[in-house]
Amino acid sequence: MLDAVAAALGADRVVTPVGSHTGAATMRLGPNVGLYDQRDVAGVIRPRTADEVRRVVAIVAGSADPVALQPMSTGHNWGLGSREPADNGAVILDLSGMDRVRAIDTTAGWAVVEPGVTQGELAKRLAGTARKLNLTASSMHTSVVGNALDRGVGLLRQRVEDLAGLEVVLPSGEMMRVGWWPSDSGRTPLYPHGLGPSALPLFLQSNLGVVTAAAIRLPPAPEALLVVRLNFTRSHLREAVDLVRHWVSQGLTHGVPKVYDPAAAKAYHGTEDEFLVHVCVAGTMASAEALTKVLIDEAVASGVFTQVTHTDRADPDPDVREVATLVELGYAGQPDDEDALFQAKMRVPADDVDSAGGGFLFFLPLVPFTGEAIAQATELLDRVHETSGIRCGATMNMLDADVVDFVVTMRFSPDDESAAHAHETLDRMYGMFGEAGFLPYRLDVDHADAIDHLSPDPAARRFIRHLKDVLDPRTVIAPGRYG
Ligand SMILES: Cc1cc2nc3c(=O)[nH]c(=O)nc-3n(C[C@H](O)[C@H](O)[C@H](O)COP(=O)(O)OP(=O)(O)OC[C@H]3O[C@@H](n4cnc5c(N)ncnc54)[C@H](O)[C@@H]3O)c2cc1C
Repeated sequence: MLDAVAAALGADRVVTPVGSHTGAATMRLGPNVGLYDQRDVAGVIRPRTADEVRRVVAIVAGSADPVALQPMSTGHNWGLGSREPADNGAVILDLSGMDRVRAIDTTAGWAVVEPGVTQGELAKRLAGTARKLNLTASSMHTSVVGNALDRGVGLLRQRVEDLAGLEVVLPSGEMMRVGWWPSDSGRTPLYPHGLGPSALPLFLQSNLGVVTAAAIRLPPAPEALLVVRLNFTRSHLREAVDLVRHWVSQGLTHGVPKVYDPAAAKAYHGTEDEFLVHVCVAGTMASAEALTKVLIDEAVASGVFTQVTHTDRADPDPDVREVATLVELGYAGQPDDEDALFQAKMRVPADDVDSAGGGFLFFLPLVPFTGEAIAQATELLDRVHETSGIRCGATMNMLDADVVDFVVTMRFSPDDESAAHAHETLDRMYGMFGEAGFLPYRLDVDHADAIDHLSPDPAARRFIRHLKDVLDPRTVIAPGRYG
């Protein structure tokens, strides 16, 4: 099968394991920062165009003994498995070379991008326009499409909200566009839902197709934007979270407010042993100023915070000033060209994260947005610390007035013994948080099977399995991830 692909695309686009003509050879992708077990991979294919993807899928679908394809965009799914597929035996469909911004309209507010387009690249293209990209806090070298497909979280909102349409190659090799796509006239307003049942969500965290491009919404850039910074001690966790919720519920905030626990706050020059809050405020000059005043007055009057800062951009300490500037630029959609904030967390450049940034794991449960629930989740991390010796960090992304993306990070030495201990601890966290009702919204490659018991209704899982059987009877697209 790989020979047929090499004949169609060129031998330089296919990496074949040594000895693969015997039919049984596999290879490894190399280290990953999470120290997940490296899977046996049957090869890597690197298409450069959507039509090449279509041809690859058609070749695989038509072969006597199809090998499952696992698509990836830039493969920087750090902490959740990086480039690794969930199962052994897959061929990696590496789409990082498909890096064209096909079209962009900053008046109507959209861009059509391929999977290899990075958030840094797209954000740069928007400089000086009235539109911005919803950036994530990950590296500028990560994919807009890959992140959105995995339901990643940006500073403005969850990235699925940015998806207007998808171009998808189905397991049969057919290509189709779902959701909204720019019309030839350029006059069709951006509306992702279409008429009738919407097919777009079927391709998120999905193995029903390979996405070859996405129409991405570019929200308007506010005229004024600043980030209010607040510090508080653990004893005020409940009140502080409830107050931030009040601001979110009343529409005072812009984007995703963030609360960093003391471990996570270090990268942002947080004060020792204190939680740190970033609340972004935006609008016209006058409305942003007025909202900032309301927030600051309420924060001071609450007596909950040890520090309330309007903006640290004027702080005399150059390190604090630099971080504050980068945080504000991030919310404004302006790329951090040096990846400085990312490197402050990972200590190495994006290219070296998998080889030299470990060990590092993510666990991503959702927690209700109440002071009580956040305190309970934080206590669970205390229990993890007491029983494992591992002090996890937590970054809380307030997605809306009801739900918090409670990002747990775990660092460990990159040796086998520490990795085994960290992964056992991760298993336990799935159990502990699950018992509390705090279920993850993204899964790492080792917990791909957890989807069955984490989904509320088995009938819904059967429905999706039925769709998979109908659309992909020969399992052309890897079943492991969210399968
Ligand atoms: C310090 C740090 C900060 C981070 N901050 C954030 C953050 O703020 N928000 C956030 O969401 N993440 C964050 N991450 C996690 C991660 O780096 C990002 O989510 C990153 O965008 C994922 O990698 P990627 O974009 O290369 O996607 P990929 O790894 O390429 O794709 C992710 C998954 O999507 C699927 N997929 C990808 N492409 C396709 C396709 N074309 N067709 C079908 N399926 C596909 C695959 O299942 C793949 O495993 C952070 C990581 C670190 C280390």
